[in-house]
Amino acid sequence: MLSRFWEFHGGVRLNRHKELSSEQPLAVAPIPKQLIYPLQQRGGLNSKALVAVGDQVLKGQIIAGDDHPLSVPTHAASSGVVTALEYRPVPHPSGLDGLCLVIDTDGLDRAVRTKSVKDFNHSKPDTLRRRIREAGVVGLGGAAFPTATKMNTGNRTIDLLVLNGAECEPYITCDDCLLRTTPDSVLQGAAILMRILGVERCIIAVEEDMPEAAQALEKAKLGGRPPSPPAPSPRFALPDGEGSKGVADATTYSNIEILKVPSKYPTGGEKQLIQVLTGREVPVRGIPADVGVVCQNVGTAAAVYAAVVEGAPLTSRIVTVTGPGVARPQNVVARIGTPIAELVAYCGGYTERAQRLIMGGPMMGLALPSDELPTIKSTNCILVADSDAVGGEKQALPCIRCGACSEACPVNLIPQQLYWHSRSDQLKKAQAYNLFDCIECGCCDYVCPSHIPLVQYFRAAKGRILDKQREQQKADHARLRFEARQARKEREKREKEEAARRKKEALAKAATDESPGRPPPSP
Ligand code: SF4
Ligand code: SF4
Repeated sequence: MLSRFWEFHGGVRLNRHKELSSEQPLAVAPIPKQLIYPLQQRGGLNSKALVAVGDQVLKGQIIAGDDHPLSVPTHAASSGVVTALEYRPVPHPSGLDGLCLVIDTDGLDRAVRTKSVKDFNHSKPDTLRRRIREAGVVGLGGAAFPTATKMNTGNRTIDLLVLNGAECEPYITCDDCLLRTTPDSVLQGAAILMRILGVERCIIAVEEDMPEAAQALEKAKLGGRPPSPPAPSPRFALPDGEGSKGVADATTYSNIEILKVPSKYPTGGEKQLIQVLTGREVPVRGIPADVGVVCQNVGTAAAVYAAVVEGAPLTSRIVTVTGPGVARPQNVVARIGTPIAELVAYCGGYTERAQRLIMGGPMMGLALPSDELPTIKSTNCILVADSDAVGGEKQALPCIRCGACSEACPVNLIPQQLYWHSRSDQLKKAQAYNLFDCIECGCCDYVCPSHIPLVQYFRAAKGRILDKQREQQKADHARLRFEARQARKEREKREKEEAARRKKEALAKAATDESPGRPPPSP
C-alpha cells in the first residue's frame, strides 16, 4: 500500500448520499415489455440496423453495428420481435430525437450461443481485443468509449493499468456494489486487460469510504469469498449453466494493488485519478497513454471478463436507481434498453419529492425530459431528485470576483474569466482561456457564492463554437466545391478551344496537301 498520494489542484468535498442505495442488496430487474436501442454511437455516428421490423431476435443477437472504430455492435438483451425502427427521444445533451430499434420482448429470454475464450493466458492480445469489440464492450464509467479501441495504444509504451473504482459523484454506488458482490470478475478482467497491454502492474483504485469494496477485492485476491452474502450475478450468463472458470494465476493477482484514494470530488476523473496515483500529469488535450497509463472503469473490467471468459455480450449492467424521489433506492442489474420508467417502477415508483430525472450524478449528470427514455450502456445511475439534491434553485447574483471558482477548478482554469467571455459571446477569448479543457465537473458552480450557473454558460459557449465550426466547415466545403467546378469549367473550355484550333489546323493542312492551288474547304 502506498503511504502517500499526489494531489491535484482544486476539487471539493461533497455530501455523498451513498447510503441511500448502498445499504440495499443488489436486485435483478425483470425483463421489460419493450427494449429500446438508440443507434447513435460516439461522435454522432449512427450504426446500421441489421434487423428489420417484424424480425424475431434472440438474446445476445447483434441487431446493429458497423466497422467504424468508434462504433460497437448492439446486442438484444432479450428475445422478442422488432416492432419499430423510428425516431424517439434519446439520452443525449442535444435533446434531439434519435433513430432507435424497438423490440417487444416475448418473456422467453431465448439466447444465441456465443464463443468464449476459456484460457486467456494463451490467447493473443489481438484475439482478446477482437472478442471485446464483438461483445460490444464500452467504458461503463460514463464515457462509453469503445474498450477495444482504447486498448489499442499504438507505439506508446504502457507500464500501468489503472482500474477506476473511485466513484466520486454523490448518490452513485453501482461500482461499489459490483466490487462488493463480484470482485473476482473485476480481478479476472484486470488480468485480461494486463495481458492485452503487456503490462505487469495494475492498480485498482477505490475511495477511502468504500471499505467493504476494498476488503472484498483483497479477499478475492487471496482466493477468499466476498464478505457480503451471495448476490445475484450482475453478469449476463449465456446460456444458463455455462460460464466462468477463473484462469488468472496467483502471479497476476500479486501484481494487482488495491488502493484507497481520498474521497474528494472529482478524484474519479481519469486524469485526476492518474495524477493522484502516480504523480503523472496527462497533458492538456492528451490521453493517459501519453504518460504510460491506460485507465478503465471497474465495471468495464467485469464486462471484459464476461465477454472473454463467458462469451457474454454487454447487454446488462448495474444501475443505481436512487434519490429522494424514488421509493426504494437500490442497485439493480438492468438490461440495456430498459425504459427508465420500468426501472423506477421496479424500485417502488416515485415519491412526492420527485421533481427532476437525471442520468448520472447531480454534478455531471444529464437532465432527462421524460422517463420514456431507455437505459443505455453508459447509464450508471438514475437519480430522481428534488431541488435540494441538485443544489436548490437559487437566484444568480453578479460575480463578486472572489476567485473561489479558480480555487476549486481541478483543471486549473479561471472560471470567472470563462464566464465573462462566454456570457458576452466573446468566444475567441473564451477559447484562449482554454474553454475546451473544462471537464464540466461543476466544482466552480458548487462553490460560487453568487450561485452563477457557470457550467451552463460553458456548455452553451462550447455548443456555439462547435456550431460555428460546423458552419465554417460547410462553407469551406461549399467554396472548395464551387472553386473545383469553376476550375473544371475553365479547363473544359480551354480543352474545347484547343481541340477546335487543332481541328482547324488539321483541316487546313489536309486541304493544302490534297489540292495545291485550290482554296481549302471551310472547317
Ligand atoms: S466564484 Fe462566482 S462570484 Fe466568485 S469569482 Fe467565481 S464566478 Fe465570480
Ligand atoms: S466545470 Fe470546468 S471550469 Fe468549472 S471547475 Fe470544472 S473544469 Fe473548472
